Amino acid sequence: MSKKLDRVKAQLEDERDEIKRLAEVTKEDRKPVELDQAQVGRLSRMDAMQVQEMALEQERRREIELQKIEAALIRIEEGEYGYCTRCGEVIWPKRLNFDPATPLCVDCAGS
Ligand SMILES: [Zn+2]
Repeated sequence: MSKKLDRVKAQLEDERDEIKRLAEVTKEDRKPVELDQAQVGRLSRMDAMQVQEMALEQERRREIELQKIEAALIRIEEGEYGYCTRCGEVIWPKRLNFDPATPLCVDCAGS
């Protein structure tokens, strides 16, 4: 494996670990809202639900990013990293620098 690819791999693994860490520390926020109506007003219940909704949305985005990263790591292992998964063309290095986990070349991403 080339040094550059090694670096990309390390970077992707770092990102993956960070996403997993964030998923762990935000667990509480995503729990179903169970508030005692008698103790908290309607408004704070809505607040709590909004917080949960946001936390769930962030988690969904993290899941998608995580899958993207895992897929990129597999492509590195299989020697297919840097090639568009749709058309097979080489992905511009600039694009990969910007988003190392991207599976598509600029043409395929844009269509
Ligand atoms: Zn493509």
